[in-house]
Amino acid sequence: MVRRVIHIINPYDPGKFPEDLSKKYGIAESEVISLSSNENPFPPPESVKRVYEKAFERVNLYPHPHYRDLKEGISEYTGVEEDRIALGNGASELLKMICEVNLEAFDPVIIPVPGYTLYAVLAMLMEASIRFPEFPGYDVKGDEILKEGGKLIFLCSPNNPTGNLVKRKELEKILKGSEGLVVVDEAYTEFSKTSHLRLLKRYDNLIIVRSFSKFFSIAGLRIGYALGNVETIEAIERVRLPFNLSNVSALVARACLEEIEYFKAARDKIVRERERLFRKLKGFDEFEVYPSAANFILVRVKGDFATEFQEFFERRGIILRNITGLMGLEGTHFRITVGREDQNDKFLDVLGKFFT
Ligand code: PMP
Repeated sequence: MVRRVIHIINPYDPGKFPEDLSKKYGIAESEVISLSSNENPFPPPESVKRVYEKAFERVNLYPHPHYRDLKEGISEYTGVEEDRIALGNGASELLKMICEVNLEAFDPVIIPVPGYTLYAVLAMLMEASIRFPEFPGYDVKGDEILKEGGKLIFLCSPNNPTGNLVKRKELEKILKGSEGLVVVDEAYTEFSKTSHLRLLKRYDNLIIVRSFSKFFSIAGLRIGYALGNVETIEAIERVRLPFNLSNVSALVARACLEEIEYFKAARDKIVRERERLFRKLKGFDEFEVYPSAANFILVRVKGDFATEFQEFFERRGIILRNITGLMGLEGTHFRITVGREDQNDKFLDVLGKFFT
């Protein structure tokens, strides 16, 4: 018999994938444009591909349990000492482990909304008592958060799905005033060209979680890291499964760190496309468009036709994320990942057709 809490957890909804469209509408998987999962449309460069291929020679072996090379690379990239870095199978696994090492049943957890839905799933699994203070447009106010208390506070900057940043001033208010641990999820940070990283030196109750899935374009390989106080990082090291990263993933992630300039150039293209999409979307009276510092844009569609809208795109091979009904959002909302220029052109073309 599974634990009772399992029955009341709303599972995380990963949205639709090219395979799903291919089955439903007979569109070839390779033809589908997924603007649903905030993936990077530019794969890593050839040098990284060569490391990936060579890593095959080692798939019969376990990785080294401490992943020193990768930690060293992340330390160089972030300027944070290695004993303050924990690695995970995606940022997701770190978020889970942070809950595991911090939460007892009924502990108060604060999750501002509209936000990323995984935090609630993970905190519920620990039988925590969750509060969801609502901030329209995710304009997080430190004072409001502090009123809630909280042993663990989840913030996201840039936030998924609204795309905006948590303001430095508000974050510092929370860090100064809270006795709990403050987790700042920076999965999309490189698209914003800013970070709250510098605050790590000053605040011991701050943990920053990051991902290789977005800027570094290896979502399929599942690598994330957490930066923070030694106590939490050591606790994660104690409870993590041995060999939680594959040796292939660890080697490839390390190789990505040697190609920062390549990824920055790809990021700059995505940011330019984001600004173009933003301007184009603003041109439609039917939309309210949220300014974004990430690789996606949230829009509210004025009207009550979410299903029709989604289907119109899917029949034409484009997947958007319908997040209508997400806690903290009123009305019909879609989150659109910024793709390559040609993909965005196709999206805009279909959009134009929908409204004519
Ligand atoms: N945090 C946020 C805000 C995300 O949007 C995602 C992925 N969609 C993650 C964390 C998880 O990323 P990863 O692929 O590294 O597990």
